[in-house]
Amino acid sequence: MAWTRSLLNFFYPNRCPGCGCFLPAQALLCADCEAGILLHDYCSCCGKPVCQCGRGTLAYDRAVVCSAYAGAAARAILCLKDAGNTNFAPFAAAVLARRLREGAYPAPELVVPVPMHPDKQRRRGYNQAALIGKALAAHLGIPMREDVLYKADTGREQHRLSARERQLGDGGFSAGSVRLDGQCVLLCDDVLTTGSTMHRCAALLKECGASAVIAAAACTTPRK
Ligand SMILES: [Zn+2]
Ligand SMILES: [Zn+2]
Repeated sequence: MAWTRSLLNFFYPNRCPGCGCFLPAQALLCADCEAGILLHDYCSCCGKPVCQCGRGTLAYDRAVVCSAYAGAAARAILCLKDAGNTNFAPFAAAVLARRLREGAYPAPELVVPVPMHPDKQRRRGYNQAALIGKALAAHLGIPMREDVLYKADTGREQHRLSARERQLGDGGFSAGSVRLDGQCVLLCDDVLTTGSTMHRCAALLKECGASAVIAAAACTTPRK
């Protein structure tokens, strides 16, 4: 309701996660940050500003990103992770949904966020990849599932995984028993760095039967 939002905005003023300036209650980013935050030039297969497809086979088939991890976008990611200002999640989700619709992408049927370790999620109160994923799923009119991939406690929970899962669960990731036969899955994360997290999770999704995986990230790191 509008009045609840204005009341909330009075006590907890809405700020731009890119620069910290005050914003009207409904806004996600200020006009200046919004104007400069979109990355247009990147590879739609690996998701990197400078294509790294030649460096080896990736388990994900396509990639879509919103911004380069720098400047206002990097500050917005830090806000999303540590400062409780989650404005960047719905902002990035809207951009990613538009790019998926307008680009030559296969139509995703399910959103799966990159999982976070349960202890870490309890401390933070949310998984930022799932916040982006939930908004993205709403834009695309498809479901999101958080019971497909898990981030295991490598010390405590690895012994419960089968040998095959352990082998694929490199990096602490594992898959549950959900079958995704023939589905095109949108795998969602906040930042695409080397691509190894997306690669490992995409490999697990394919083991669950996914026919294609599109990696979606709010930010991609620029060239070092
Ligand atoms: Zn701003
Ligand atoms: Zn590439």
